[in-house]
Amino acid sequence: MKQNGKPTALIMIFGATGDLAKRKLFPSIYNLYTKGKLERFAVIGVARRPLSTKDFQTAVKNSIQTSNDSPADVNDFISRFYYHSHDVTDSSSYTALNQLAEELDGNYSLEGNRIFYLAMAPEFFGTIAEHLKKDGLTNVRGFKRLVIEKPFGHDLESAIALNKQIRTAFSENEIYRIDHYLGKEMVQNIEVIRFANAIFEPLWNNRYIANIQVTSSEILGVEERGRYYEKSGALRDMVQNHMLQMVALLAMEPPIRLTTDEIRSEKVKVLRALRPLKAEEVNDYFVRGQYGSGKINGEKVPGYREEPMVDKESNTETFVAGKLMIDNFRWAGVPFYIRTGKRMKAKSTKIVIQFKDIPMNLYYQTDQTLNPNLLVIHIQPEEGITLHLNAKKAGQNMEATPVKLNFSNKGADGMNTPEAYEKLLYDCIRGDATNFTHWDEVALSWSFTDKISEVWENTKEASFPNYQAGTMGPKAADELLEKDGFFWWPVTDLDV
Ligand code: NAP
Repeated sequence: MKQNGKPTALIMIFGATGDLAKRKLFPSIYNLYTKGKLERFAVIGVARRPLSTKDFQTAVKNSIQTSNDSPADVNDFISRFYYHSHDVTDSSSYTALNQLAEELDGNYSLEGNRIFYLAMAPEFFGTIAEHLKKDGLTNVRGFKRLVIEKPFGHDLESAIALNKQIRTAFSENEIYRIDHYLGKEMVQNIEVIRFANAIFEPLWNNRYIANIQVTSSEILGVEERGRYYEKSGALRDMVQNHMLQMVALLAMEPPIRLTTDEIRSEKVKVLRALRPLKAEEVNDYFVRGQYGSGKINGEKVPGYREEPMVDKESNTETFVAGKLMIDNFRWAGVPFYIRTGKRMKAKSTKIVIQFKDIPMNLYYQTDQTLNPNLLVIHIQPEEGITLHLNAKKAGQNMEATPVKLNFSNKGADGMNTPEAYEKLLYDCIRGDATNFTHWDEVALSWSFTDKISEVWENTKEASFPNYQAGTMGPKAADELLEKDGFFWWPVTDLDV
């Protein structure tokens, strides 16, 4: 499958004229190309609109070009892109698509390796997979892999149905379900911080950790995605996948080896240990919010119900906060708090690990209490780690003062870390599925969140909208922690 150590493949992008392809996929493939990580490859873009291959190549060029590119590189790169105008629901044109694929396979010596990247609305996933099989596109000499964007189903039932459909054409180890959070540098770093440092792992349990907080907040509202978001909401859009994946990485046991199967099996155990919620408990553990109008950076912004393609009476949540309990030996009694939402005060994804207080305070600070030790993992936009300690305040007194040990990824590498999509695409081409979600993880996550959506969908939230745009969510989200004697560490005060 590999020659000269470099992977080779034909990449078929379904939805090649869409936003994801333009903003993420073409630039990622280009970066891999300029870094010499791809040698022999070709790309077929598939979408309905009639475009010539030349027009398509121009569109690819426009999406990648920066000022310091060499024109020869760019021209060689785009010459490997071909366009096939095709409605994925139309059975008749898969044969022509296969002919083009065979031809390129021969011309570029691609060894029969094929990657099918479905950058399209999820309702087409099953149909495409079935056609790929029926019309012979998956009948290859080399490897065949299916890359699927989120959302993978709408709930457990629809996810099972979709999985059945795609499994007719691809085996589980040929399916790469993208959760782009798993491609983020600092999300991948969670494992390394935990398992490569003698100082953290011994403390990583309910004896020393008071609580863990995972926040993923956005400043942007729903923008043009009202139609999709009305059917999804923050629980399905963020919690079922990204938030639960981060929790699994934080809570899992050390794998016996760093292989895909071992890591996934430890993550699955965490998801199995999540305390399931009964319908009557949902609102004790989870809080939903919807933004009203407000001001962001001095500018007035509309409420969710005023956004395009949103119901004026919408019951859709744009914010979720929750308390997860992981009922196993390591985590019994330690709350994992998660929160995510749109139109919040800051764009920030951060994890705060709050350690328990020491048994006795010998020192004092101005406010007479010692700050707890915190380990903060900054996922985005800044990437880094901060350890909050107490140290002696300079001077005569034995007074303690908080200090921070900072590591900033950008400063250390002197360059931006590669985009998540670039890393994930490269993993897929090399056949490394570690940072993609296995079906078992998808199913367990849906079965957990389904309980919450069932309750929320059947009871209209009378308080909506219940948080102002530009804030950190509804008051009930703060009360969720106050009940336990904690509070959300303000993400804006924790920057690297
Ligand atoms: P988009 O901009 O709406 O693009 C959809 C693409 O599908 C277009 O190329 C469209 O081209 C093509 N298409 C639609 N119906 C078709 C049909 N019947 N046959 C063939 N092609 C068809 O969507 P997107 O934002 O790129 O998102 C694609 C997927 O990625 C979705 O599952 C989304 O949830 C996921 N995703 C996107 C982002 C993002 O940043 N955009 C992030 C995470 C996940 P034609 O109209 O020419 O057919």
